[in-house]
Amino acid sequence: MKSNQYRVVITDCDHSSLEEEKREFSSIGAELILAQVREEEDLIRACKEADGLINQYALLTRKVFEALPKCKVVSRYGVGVDSIDLKAATDFGIIVANVPDYCIDEVSNQTIAMVLTLVRKTAFFDQKVKSNRWDFHLGIPIYRLHGKTLGLIGSGRIGLEVAKKISTFGVKVIAFDPYLQKAGEGIELTDFDTVLKRSDFISIHCPLNESTHHLVGEQAFQKMEKKPILINTSRGPIVDEKALIQALVEGRVSGAALDVLEKEPPDPQNPLLKMENVILSPHVSFYSEESIKELKRRTAENVAKVLMGKWPRSVVNRNVIGKTRALIPA
Ligand code: NAD
Repeated sequence: MKSNQYRVVITDCDHSSLEEEKREFSSIGAELILAQVREEEDLIRACKEADGLINQYALLTRKVFEALPKCKVVSRYGVGVDSIDLKAATDFGIIVANVPDYCIDEVSNQTIAMVLTLVRKTAFFDQKVKSNRWDFHLGIPIYRLHGKTLGLIGSGRIGLEVAKKISTFGVKVIAFDPYLQKAGEGIELTDFDTVLKRSDFISIHCPLNESTHHLVGEQAFQKMEKKPILINTSRGPIVDEKALIQALVEGRVSGAALDVLEKEPPDPQNPLLKMENVILSPHVSFYSEESIKELKRRTAENVAKVLMGKWPRSVVNRNVIGKTRALIPA
């Protein structure tokens, strides 16, 4: 194969190394260029000869796509593709690909870690002992995990993995997911109100969209009968934070574990920062050294596959099938 037969441009990214991407492209003889541009005119200049693009934050608009006659594929680092005008890409026969499942292990583990931290009060005791208070009575009451019920809101890739892991602790799993006809193994599929009513833990794993914005708000908190612990590793605005704070203050919810917040980072005055029964992490669930490597390798692999005449593993604009610029059988 002739070297540098193809040109791939990374529009922008905040990764410190491109080892994974380079490895993918060197095997197909493609030149890789890191542009680090975000403005429309700069993007057009940097990408006009590109056969494929990798994108992180830069907005790929119709005007940009109009100016890229050779571009056959855009692959986005991660799940969301809001930076890409999907309709325009499709109109020009450009495949848009993403990597929807690079951190299922990490996010599900974060969820389990948060449940265990709150149930066994490990973070609470750590703080007490380090401030010279060696007394387990400070953490009373602690309840047994075995036999409790965890309710999932959203039972997709991550929800299913959480269910699998938490059930090994003897926890029953119920789920609300309006788009599923059948639950995964060992999960009882039910309605939203039943999840609120019966759960000792409620864990959110649905996407953020118009119908899930503030889905867990005042009305939902009123329907929670078992003073549950709320865990959110999905997106902050799915929970109405004001209503959560009120429910915590009134003891209607016994704790919360939040990897995501309505505002990230939070205001220093946010009451959640001061509550002992609340644990927080800085939107880190997706991350491990391995997940990031996998993300980078698979983002590049999407582009390499298209340039080699194959479909990438995850196509976002499936209606591009049949009209691709790339020579791929439909
Ligand atoms: P997925 O698409 O596999 O599953 C989402 C599930 O939610 C689907 O089964 C869908 O039917 C369901 N759903 C949609 N609307 C719903 C609603 N109104 N009520 C209940 N369920 C609904 O996604 P996933 O890979 O499991 O990821 C879930 C979410 O986790 C993502 O949308 C993302 O916001 C979040 N996430 C967070 C991090 C992090 O670092 N904190 C990392 C990755 C993903």
